[in-house]
Amino acid sequence: MARIVQKYGGTSVGDVERIKNVAARIKAIRDAGNELVVVVSARAGVTNELIARAKAVCAIPSEREMDQLLAIGEQETIALTAMALHGIGVDAVSYTGAQAGIFTDKVFTKAKIRTINAKPIEKDLKAGRVIIVAGFQGINDDGQVTTLGRGGSDLTAIALAAAVKADKCEIYTDVDGVYTADPRVVKDARKLEEISYDEMLELASLGSKVMQSRSVEFAAKYNVVFEVRSSFNQNPGTIVKQEVAYMEKVLVRGVAVDKDQAKVLISNIADKPGSAATVFKALANAHINVDMIVQNVGRAGLANLTFTVPLSEKDKAVRALEPALKEVGGEVTFDEKIAKLSVVGVGMRTHSGIAATLFEALAKAGVNIELISTSEIKISVIIARDKADDAARVAHAAFQLDQLGS
Ligand code: ASP
Ligand code: MG
Repeated sequence: MARIVQKYGGTSVGDVERIKNVAARIKAIRDAGNELVVVVSARAGVTNELIARAKAVCAIPSEREMDQLLAIGEQETIALTAMALHGIGVDAVSYTGAQAGIFTDKVFTKAKIRTINAKPIEKDLKAGRVIIVAGFQGINDDGQVTTLGRGGSDLTAIALAAAVKADKCEIYTDVDGVYTADPRVVKDARKLEEISYDEMLELASLGSKVMQSRSVEFAAKYNVVFEVRSSFNQNPGTIVKQEVAYMEKVLVRGVAVDKDQAKVLISNIADKPGSAATVFKALANAHINVDMIVQNVGRAGLANLTFTVPLSEKDKAVRALEPALKEVGGEVTFDEKIAKLSVVGVGMRTHSGIAATLFEALAKAGVNIELISTSEIKISVIIARDKADDAARVAHAAFQLDQLGS
């Protein structure tokens, strides 16, 4: 007997047929004698629909009311999943985030989990029930409903796995696991048997949107080993954990492409101490995630500053930059037709030459590199968006990723 936490994403519970499919899977695992805590997302598309409705009634909806609204998406699926289980003779009970004892801080729309009181769940598990928990939501000390940020059901599952000391945590989604590249773009992409938290984090935050980044960070912090796998078949998925076998021998484990970035160029900004601080302070105050910053050598007291921001935050960036540039001068231009390509692998910590291999492969394919940034386990380049798919294929081939994985 094992204690298993499972999470089913929005597509896995996308309609009543799929909810029944999930119920059948749960029953099989339950019948094999396991204890089960199951986290479900809202049906695919429901959260977006609710957000659209909120914006239709009010230009800037209150964040408290937003959480109140968004929490209903998951409340539908927990009840339906529990009912589907009852329909096939499984004793199950649904829990909202609050009922599951998930206590968060007070930051509406992106609350952090502070603690989980697992006692009610433990009691129902002892009574032999399957527990179905609403993902993405919690409650704060004032008794207000909070949500954990988009994709937050992953976080609910990982945090619950830690809280109930699960033997296994399985994240079910509509893909078979983590691949060396997006299989829709790179035909010979391979599914990885295992990947480390650090690599998964880079891949998750780089546009291969398998999982919410915060949930991977949480898993790394509390050492929760989990498996990403498909709810539509029985194939084994990808295990995510601290140390991966032969980790150092494999230099690059994956290629990720992020097409949701915009490049910002501020030209002719005053080349003096404090200019960059003024610009980035303004962006930070507006909570805009800035990435890949490059400043060129100043000339005639003026310099150029280039960086990237998420495409969805472009307009917010424009507004934030206006007052800052009044102070330090400079004109802003945007390029939305870019993509960020990254190669990721912990083996980079101990090996050199990876940048050269990547740049050479891109050069041969006629892909121009506009910006470069590196971390210990990642090299990212900004390139033209219409070249991004080709670039992913040549990078994948250059590191022989078709020979990796299962
Ligand atoms: N329903 C929420 C969202 O769409 C949470 C989740 O799916 O994980 O972001
Ligand atoms: Mg999701």
